[in-house]
Amino acid sequence: MKAVLRAFIYDFDLRTATEQFQRLRNDWGMDGISLVAVSPARVVLLPNAPGDRLRWIGEGTLCFQPHPAWYADLRFLPVFDEQAAKEEVFRRLVEAAKEAGLSVMAVVPCCQNSAIGRRYHDLTVLNALDDRIQDFLCPANPDARTLMAALVGDLCSNYAIDGVELESLGYLLLSRVQGLVSDIELTPAIEFLMSRCFCAHCTRAATERDIEIERVRFFAKTQLEQFFIAPTDFANTPLEWDIWASLVEGVGEQILYLRMAIVSSLLALLVEAAQKKDKKVHIEGHLLPARLWTVGLDRQQMVLLADAIEVDAKEVPPDRLPPSLILNKQVVSTNAELWVRLHPSERFVANRHAFLAQAKACKDHNVSGVVFAGYGSLRRQNWSWIQEAVSLLKS
Ligand SMILES: [Zn+2]
Repeated sequence: MKAVLRAFIYDFDLRTATEQFQRLRNDWGMDGISLVAVSPARVVLLPNAPGDRLRWIGEGTLCFQPHPAWYADLRFLPVFDEQAAKEEVFRRLVEAAKEAGLSVMAVVPCCQNSAIGRRYHDLTVLNALDDRIQDFLCPANPDARTLMAALVGDLCSNYAIDGVELESLGYLLLSRVQGLVSDIELTPAIEFLMSRCFCAHCTRAATERDIEIERVRFFAKTQLEQFFIAPTDFANTPLEWDIWASLVEGVGEQILYLRMAIVSSLLALLVEAAQKKDKKVHIEGHLLPARLWTVGLDRQQMVLLADAIEVDAKEVPPDRLPPSLILNKQVVSTNAELWVRLHPSERFVANRHAFLAQAKACKDHNVSGVVFAGYGSLRRQNWSWIQEAVSLLKS
């Protein structure tokens, strides 16, 4: 059972990082560290960081220095933190962690990148209403795919990491957009319809397979327009494969399979970029595997391609963790490892006792590893939760 701490580069002071990593290894019992390589948020609160407590990073900003040759096929270089790049913070932290005996993974959000999407709209999802979702890159878009493969290739070639944790892969759902303001409560069905992509690349992929994607787009557009006038029965349709597959005389199913094929081929591309450099690949799954199709993830392909599937405990109420782990163990079978991301904070679990119960469930279900999310962003008193959980996992 491995224990890994997820952190931002801003959580460490370069002058004392080696000792900090040694403490994490020797006193906390950590096996590894997982460093956020691309910021998932515009701003983060890091009460324990040595520098600014409020860190205005910018969603999609790279926390490492990109090597331009990797992006030569694109018309842009990704946005990166210039100060951190100048000081080579990412590289120096990776080296310090390795020196302390920790393994190092880099966390890469794939299809969620507003830094790119807001500058280059043509890479983003275009929904049935002809609105761009500027935070989401379309998995079928050739430039978006080149960018994601370049990020993984750059990290795996130029930094001494052991692997990558790929997150936010697929056709994401609108609720992932940070700070969306709406006076209408969007049901899961409406959110799903709002998030479907009908960009030129998705349309072309469908047309090449003789799939009548225009009929599906018209259906989605009509449903959304009716819902914006008054509540509809359709808006309460549960997100179940059989129902959505039967829509538009079965064209719905063809589109669902097409999207899964597109996401699987993107995943294969990213895995290839990492494996060329002998790096491990963890892919973000879902505690409820039956939800994966909603973002176009094919669980069989994920398990075949990845070294590990990583699920986030936040996705179900704390007491539902054990049955969800059983489901996920069945999905990964013996082909991949199952890892669980735990959040040692009262924001996500009631108290220390409930948190340790989650850690115990991970141990009881024999998961391969646990990632503790948050370090500099936690209350310092919660650090003891992590230390207790690690000794429980390793007992
Ligand atoms: Zn698209």
